[in-house]
Amino acid sequence: MIIVLKTGTAEPEIQQVVDAVKTFGYEPRLIRGVERTVIACVGDERNHHTLESLIVLPQVETVTPVQKKYKLVSREYQPQDTVLDVNGCKIGGGTFQVVAGPCSVETKAQTLETARAVKASGATLFRGGAFKPRTSPYDFQGLGREGLELLRQAREETGLPIVTEVMSPQDVDMVAEAADILQIGARNAQNVPLLAAAAKSGKVILLKRGLSSFIDEWLLAAEYICVHGNSKVILCERGIRTFEHACRNTLDVGAVAVAKKETHLPVFVDPSHAAGRADMVIPLARAAVAAGADGLLVEVHPNPATALSDGGQQLTPKQFAQLMAEIRPLVGVMGKKLQSA
Ligand code: PEP
Ligand code: MN
Repeated sequence: MIIVLKTGTAEPEIQQVVDAVKTFGYEPRLIRGVERTVIACVGDERNHHTLESLIVLPQVETVTPVQKKYKLVSREYQPQDTVLDVNGCKIGGGTFQVVAGPCSVETKAQTLETARAVKASGATLFRGGAFKPRTSPYDFQGLGREGLELLRQAREETGLPIVTEVMSPQDVDMVAEAADILQIGARNAQNVPLLAAAAKSGKVILLKRGLSSFIDEWLLAAEYICVHGNSKVILCERGIRTFEHACRNTLDVGAVAVAKKETHLPVFVDPSHAAGRADMVIPLARAAVAAGADGLLVEVHPNPATALSDGGQQLTPKQFAQLMAEIRPLVGVMGKKLQSA
């Protein structure tokens, strides 16, 4: 932490700050300028009391942290890419994986038809929501337990590992029984008890970025999962809220590049929730590959016009086949290997 004192602060007031810094366990180093005094506080900011509260002292101008708050997810901590293994499906470290499937699990026929179709086009994991965090309480909330059973059947038939969302800590055990990867959705991205409970399942966690989360908040959410003993995390950028409304959200391609640089975790992109409209999903998927993503999460429905959620953004199986054909060469250009089931 760097504490800058106000111009002309007298010696007793300087000493008061120095004493406070020592009380909090830091070693203060004074830099006396012509007009101002700066106090550099030496100590690990992650395991000492925060000095940020000293801003309330009248002689303190600014208190600035110099250390990043995340550690376990950082490249400094682990320089090499994390490579996860989900039933033999390698995620990260030069591979490229595509998770595809409907927004919501609706019926057995819809689920199995989609699973077969996305597998045939090269998806390596199957997604589908059984517990849906809908904005309106009047909208379809998902099939719940019954949906998990349909996902189990899809895995049994296709062999594709399952990615599905868990919305509350008390559901973790039940969802983890059916899922190979637990998804934590954008609306729950900073739900600390859920992050902790999901971590304890020992499953790989796909962590969406919150609708309005800064990148460091997203990385700190991943840090929570690691701190709770599970470093098997996939970061997923899914578009953020901005002033622009041509698309449902704004895909933050820059966040992919930042997350790849700052962390060793695999970074996926969900172009479906970023776009909110089917005709923009393929262009955003291409951008994701070019920005260095390690995988995609794409919504596919056999008949999007009848979908019970997110109909406007789901691709038909044919459009999904087109997406796969378009990204295939780009993945190669990026030096990654597109896996196929
Ligand atoms: C989803 O993947 O279906 C979903 C609800 O995503 P998000 O949490 O990113 O809105
Ligand atoms: Mn959706």
